Amino acid sequence: MLHLEVSGVIPLACQRCLESVSFDIEVDNLLQLVPEGAELSQDELEDDTRDFLPVARELNVVDLVEDEILLTLPVAPRHEKCGLPGAADAGERINPFATLAGLKGKPN
Ligand SMILES: [Zn+2]
Repeated sequence: MLHLEVSGVIPLACQRCLESVSFDIEVDNLLQLVPEGAELSQDELEDDTRDFLPVARELNVVDLVEDEILLTLPVAPRHEKCGLPGAADAGERINPFATLAGLKGKPN
């Protein structure tokens, strides 16, 4: 068994304002090393308490840590609250849903 723990903070690009947004990395995985090509039983595949990691002869730990970090990263990182680039200068933001709400209930 290999217990892998990674923690830290990584800057990502916010997908809304494109500024930097900090993301807390927390990896805490239990990996069972199995020979490459080994057949796993259904019980083993359904066991959520650990993951199985096929290993040939040597394990590249740097690649493993990198992969585990990549798996935790959000697809579209965003600040909890932020605006579109330039929106702060453009005065009040227009909420697109407000326009939709105005159309609601009106006949076509
Ligand atoms: Zn943002």
